[in-house]
Amino acid sequence: MKRKDLGFNSKLIHSGMFDDQFGSATVPIYQTSTFRFKDVDHGAELFAGRCEGYIYTRIGNPTLCSLEELVADLENGYKGIAVSSGMGAVNVIYMGLLEKGAHMVSTDAVYGPSRVVMEKHYFRFGVEADYVDTTNTDNIINAIKPNTRVIFLETPSNPTMGVTDMKKVVEIARSRGIITVVDNTFCSPYLQKPLDFGIDVVFHSITKFINGHADIIGGIIVTREETIYEQLRDMMVNMGCNMDPHQAYMVIRGLKTLSLRVERSQQNAMKIAEFLENHPKVKWVKYPGLKSYPQYDLAARQMNGPGALLAFELNDGYEAGKTLMNNVKVCMLAVSLGGVETLIQHPASMTHSKMDKQSREKAGITDGLVRISVGIENIEDLKGDLDKALAKK
Ligand SMILES: *Cc1c(COP(=O)(O)O)cnc(C)c1O
Repeated sequence: MKRKDLGFNSKLIHSGMFDDQFGSATVPIYQTSTFRFKDVDHGAELFAGRCEGYIYTRIGNPTLCSLEELVADLENGYKGIAVSSGMGAVNVIYMGLLEKGAHMVSTDAVYGPSRVVMEKHYFRFGVEADYVDTTNTDNIINAIKPNTRVIFLETPSNPTMGVTDMKKVVEIARSRGIITVVDNTFCSPYLQKPLDFGIDVVFHSITKFINGHADIIGGIIVTREETIYEQLRDMMVNMGCNMDPHQAYMVIRGLKTLSLRVERSQQNAMKIAEFLENHPKVKWVKYPGLKSYPQYDLAARQMNGPGALLAFELNDGYEAGKTLMNNVKVCMLAVSLGGVETLIQHPASMTHSKMDKQSREKAGITDGLVRISVGIENIEDLKGDLDKALAKK
């Protein structure tokens, strides 16, 4: 049976495995910067790409290769490129796909640094971008220019939980020769496989669900076909933002339980969403699993589950947000997401505090907005914790 025909959970356990001389049951850490050539001809063959093997870890390494094969299989993609962080992935994609004079259309509520690096740095090199609400695909069509090369999406977006219709975007992009990219960090390949909808490039901050244990920073890119893969691989090697082999080993270890972790987190998230929706101090809850979620049908169509992230609005705004933050004891007050532990944060006083109130609210980040990344703890403990903290004045 071919590896690509295995079910998702079997891929988690078996994809990327390879035989070594000892029959190791796990993928060993090849903690080496360089690889010995047998002789001059062997070195020449390797550099010419005519034989299989490794040269230097920035270019490739067996532990990294194992992780790259594993995630490429999970995403139903061609090949993967492991990088040092999620932002490393963003930069390899921007640098690899946009040239001077090129234009990009992107989700307005995209991960903050993905937009900051574009507007602060890439603009200096003559690259342009427009940020629009991509949940309405007409906004994408209206933003496209003759020099648009890339449509860069995040779905669901953060922390406003807007879902973009990937199938529609692919139709818009293909007929115009535009490359499509999706940041799939929020979902992990367990919940969403953008390449199956015809998206060209998918990437992750591995830091979040894929690793899942809040102990590693990393990223990975997977492409649907060879040409873009070669372009991005070349860019990663030359930018020098490869992952370290030890880090890759930790990620492979964490990834084995992806389905179990996401399933459990998602069950907890559903219960917390229902609890909050019925709480008198809560104005509304945005969670793709709730019937009240405005894009319920679209989310159900392109995601295999509602996920572990939810946002809600407190009636009493900014101060109520701060009080909640200061009184939770089981939920951890921290940014990041996708780990086994429940993390809670208040964007207005934390991640988005530097934004002026007007543009913050325009982006849907209101004073009483709270985001939770739900972990795998006992649901009674999580609900009890929120209940007590919400009762505080
Ligand atoms: C965290 C995150 C990133 C950036 O990843 P790092 O590993 O922190 O560099 C990009 N996109 C999303 C959606 C994220 O949550």
